[in-house]
Amino acid sequence: MTIERSIAALARLKEGNRRFIANVRGIDALLSQQRRAELAERQQPFAIVLGCSDSRAPAELIFDQGLGDLFVIRIAGNIVAPSGIASVEFAAERFGIPLVVLMGHTGCGAIEATLESINRPNDPALSSLRSIVERVRPAIEPLTMTDLARDPAALRRQAVRANVRAGANHLRHGSPGLERLVLEGRVSVVGAEYDLESGMVDFFDGVPG
Ligand SMILES: [Zn+2]
Repeated sequence: MTIERSIAALARLKEGNRRFIANVRGIDALLSQQRRAELAERQQPFAIVLGCSDSRAPAELIFDQGLGDLFVIRIAGNIVAPSGIASVEFAAERFGIPLVVLMGHTGCGAIEATLESINRPNDPALSSLRSIVERVRPAIEPLTMTDLARDPAALRRQAVRANVRAGANHLRHGSPGLERLVLEGRVSVVGAEYDLESGMVDFFDGVPG
C-alpha cells in the first residue's frame, strides 16, 4: 500500500499546482494559519520538495499548500549536497513522508552560470559560485558536446532537466537509509520542472504508478 501513498501525495501536489495556475487559492492552505497551535505540537507534511532558491519558485505557493504541508529544502540550482540528502532522509524517516520531489525550473541562473563556467573556466566572476557549479557541471557538461551547443536556448532547457535527472538519481542512492526506503517502495523520488511563465510543474522523472 506504500506506492499508493506516493501516488496520492503526487496527486495532491498536482491539484495544488492546477489551482496556482488558475489563480485560485484552496481553503485548506488559507486556513492553515489557524492551525498554528496544533502544528506547534506536531507536524505531518505529506511531501518533501528540494527546489531552487530562486524567488520565483517557492514550493508552498506553486503547489498551493499551507503551514505544515510540505518539508522544503531550497538551494541555488537545486543541487543535491550532503546536507540536502541528510535533510531528505531525516524528514522521510521521521515523518514517514512517501514522496520526494526534486524540482528545477526554467530560466535557472545557477544552470546558466554553470554553462558560462564551462565556456569560461577561468572567469573570476564565477569563482564564488564554485561549490554550486561543480555539482551541476557533471550532469550538463556532456550536453555541451552535442549539437545542442549550437542552440543556446535548447541547451539551457535540456540542461535544467539533465540536472534534475541527475539530482533525483543521486537522492535515490545518496545514502544507505534513503536507498533502503526507495527499494522498499516506501519513498518515491520524482524529478520535476517548474515553468516560470506558465506556472506549470511537469513531473517527468521517476513518476510512481
Ligand atoms: Zn534556479
